[in-house]
Amino acid sequence: MTIQTDAVIVGAGPCGLFQVFELGLLGLQADVVDSMSMAGGQCIELYPDKPIYDIPAVPVCTGEELIEQLMKQIEPFDARLHLGQEVTDVKPQDDGSFFVRTSKGTEFNAKTVIIAGGVGCFQPRVLRAEGAPELADSHLFYRVKDPSRFAGKRLAVLGGGDSALDWAIELAPASESLTLIHRSDQFRAAPASVAKLREMTGTGKVRIIEHTTVPELHATDGTLEAITLKTTDGELSRLEVDDVLVFYGLAPKLGPIANWGLDLNRKTVNVDTEKFQTNVPGIFAIGDINEYPGKKKLILSGFHEAALAAFAAKEYIEPGKK
Ligand code: FAD
Repeated sequence: MTIQTDAVIVGAGPCGLFQVFELGLLGLQADVVDSMSMAGGQCIELYPDKPIYDIPAVPVCTGEELIEQLMKQIEPFDARLHLGQEVTDVKPQDDGSFFVRTSKGTEFNAKTVIIAGGVGCFQPRVLRAEGAPELADSHLFYRVKDPSRFAGKRLAVLGGGDSALDWAIELAPASESLTLIHRSDQFRAAPASVAKLREMTGTGKVRIIEHTTVPELHATDGTLEAITLKTTDGELSRLEVDDVLVFYGLAPKLGPIANWGLDLNRKTVNVDTEKFQTNVPGIFAIGDINEYPGKKKLILSGFHEAALAAFAAKEYIEPGKK
């Protein structure tokens, strides 16, 4: 079923969320799509606990608090959020509207498209080891879709952040064994999670190996058999494992936006400063993704751009209407 909407907003970062509000004030319905499973863009992915001091009338708030407040502010406008899916296709139609499709197959007929894609889609940082691409999604995973898939397996979890620790704690009880492997003894994850996993090593099922370099993978006919680890003092050890889960964090990538026929710089989209419209009429770009003389990558600037883009979208949909 194709969803009819006034605007598809590509990206649920702070600017994409505020765009819902500005469109809503003008009576326009928005559908917001984000590749991440949570709204919030960089504020949630990169700095949920960092204080922000430059939002007018809010002397200080964290990244997470800003997103919570924005979500509350857009509640009256009933925007539909489509999370965990990337916008892959945007195609202009003869009637001036746009066909939009996501990586999950959700399809829209949108009167306008507003790109609020920030620095692009966040993609998992990959394991740079020989044979890693061939084992991806069979024995090497960057996300967990179905935890039961890992029951009874010998697992290696790579990383030292929240995702690595949270998944290690979650998957260990049903696994045959689980080894968390980290390049140092300094973890970025919440101290409570590190303490909990250390406590779990007492069961004999869980191990933590620190100070290692990138592991080597050993597979036969597409089946992973073992990994070898080299500690930073040169010691080699072999670990028999069935699956490796890699949580090295996320890196932004412009992704499919590059294929939509837009006037691009390296990783940004050129817009005018009256409407924040791209070279394609009806497609607007706001927030970190756009470029114009004097551009500053600030949330405040993105909010201003969202206001003007909303008026321009209204004019595009209903020309001349007061
Ligand atoms: P983003 O926050 O980057 O969100 C874009 C979203 O679009 C992402 O969730 C991404 O997954 C999604 N996306 C991209 N492409 C697609 C696609 N094809 N399909 C689906 N989804 C897609 N600014 C301030 O004003 N004050 C500060 O104090 C401040 N501190 C900062 C601290 C740090 C450490 C960093 C890194 C930045 C800081 N910034 C600050 C900058 C601010 O975070 C950005 O300006 C802001 O996040 C831009 O918002 P956005 O909505 O344009 O993009």
